[in-house]
Amino acid sequence: MDLLFLGTGSGVPAKHRNVSSIALKLLEERNSIWMFDCGEATQHQILHTTLKPRKIEKIFITHMHGDHIFGLPGLLSSRAFQGGETPLTIYGPVGIKQYVLSSLRFSATHIKYPIKFVEFSDNECIFQDTQFKVTVRKLKHGIPSYGFRIEESDHEGTLQADALKAAGVPFGPMFGKLKNGEKVILEDGTVIDGKDFVGPSQKGRVVTILGDTVRTNASIELAENADVLVHESTFTHKDVKLATSYNHSTNVQAAETAKQANAKKLLLTHISARYLSNDVYELQKEAQTIFPETYVMQDLKEISIPLERKGDELK
Ligand code: ZN
Repeated sequence: MDLLFLGTGSGVPAKHRNVSSIALKLLEERNSIWMFDCGEATQHQILHTTLKPRKIEKIFITHMHGDHIFGLPGLLSSRAFQGGETPLTIYGPVGIKQYVLSSLRFSATHIKYPIKFVEFSDNECIFQDTQFKVTVRKLKHGIPSYGFRIEESDHEGTLQADALKAAGVPFGPMFGKLKNGEKVILEDGTVIDGKDFVGPSQKGRVVTILGDTVRTNASIELAENADVLVHESTFTHKDVKLATSYNHSTNVQAAETAKQANAKKLLLTHISARYLSNDVYELQKEAQTIFPETYVMQDLKEISIPLERKGDELK
């Protein structure tokens, strides 16, 4: 599970930062990619990566501002040319379906693969299967803007096959029973309890990706104990008045949210083009005084989100 930042700028494309888009790479988990927002020229950014558009299974849109959606029609169209035949689901605020279908219709774009739309309002579970659950909450921005909490199911512990063999359990159907935590009786009458031979389960990961917002409790709730929180930081804290008047957050506000939510890592994105490299370094440093595990993202930066290793909880 990795997060690949395709665009980390706010508002308009800049040379060093394209507008918003993030790919959650779930290649090992489900051989697919989930995309979050799709600003203009996201497909150009993809050309600099190994991402395969045909592997995009779901696209989640945080809100309808142009810098988050203007890349969508082009990407959908190219996906068809690049061998994309599998269905795609687009989750977004009310209006996303009409926006996409109108863009495709007026440009006479015919897409062969099916697109399903899920328009949400607030506080809903918008997707759940045995592996993942995605919930959405409304944030606070000039127009309806949302945040997503992606929760992975826990990973079951693995069966310790070597220990079982050493205990005299013959390889075969008994292994299956023991894996389910059941007890089996060997020919010599020995009782073997599966629970003693299954390693500890590993907690599933939680990734929270927020759309544009000012500070709000919904962000904290979405990011509770998250492994990673992706938060906008359009402004630095000396420009807090600007941030508030444009319905955006500062680095410090994002760091306070991460701290209150007890998140493990904070990744800042949606950075205003007014800040150059030294400003960005200061922006990160200032946020780290509140939440040390804060990192400002750059375009094409990839962050892996590992499973918590056994024993980590002892630290
Ligand atoms: Zn916005």
